[in-house]
Amino acid sequence: MATPIESRIRLFLGDITSLDCDAIVTAANDALCGGGGVDGAAHDAAGSELVRASMALAPCPAGEARITGGFNLAARFVIHAVGPIFRDIDTDRETLANAYASSLSLAAENNAASIAFPCISTGAFGFPPNSACEIAIDTVIQWLRSNDQPNLVTFCCFEPDDHGRYKERLTELGLLS
Ligand code: ADP
Repeated sequence: MATPIESRIRLFLGDITSLDCDAIVTAANDALCGGGGVDGAAHDAAGSELVRASMALAPCPAGEARITGGFNLAARFVIHAVGPIFRDIDTDRETLANAYASSLSLAAENNAASIAFPCISTGAFGFPPNSACEIAIDTVIQWLRSNDQPNLVTFCCFEPDDHGRYKERLTELGLLS
């Protein structure tokens, strides 16, 4: 019997680079050249080989993702997801959902059983955090309903406020005990 979705979702507060899962996602820019925020942390922790590997796969338009090795990270893979620079909720909603879905699809293709997501686009890219949280959770649930891999998805929040909003939403949906 399929594993219930509530056993396939975790919530974590802290630095995504500390997580020992098959793939961590970073919120990248379209040039995949590294940057600030979570991308800076991923590149610092992975070492300088990561930027060479990621830039070789550029450009990556918003809504898409690329996969590289994890180099010095505990994670086997880094998935470089490009979210939208926020302008308008109606168009940017779909682009943000696509960034999550593309990442999940790459994880599945590469047999990554576990994946951790940061709150894509909610830092420098300015996406309203409540809507971003809903879109992230809805997209992941939709994926898990129809796919066996990845088996485990961690929402990694760096800010206590984000952790609070994910906890509330996941609890409302009965997905967090
Ligand atoms: P974007 O440009 O897509 O907005 P940012 O890196 O600026 O990307 O922010 C995305 C999210 O990543 C924010 O919620 C921020 O709090 C979070 N973040 C920053 N550093 C880390 C980290 N080391 N681990 C996990 N999340 C992080």
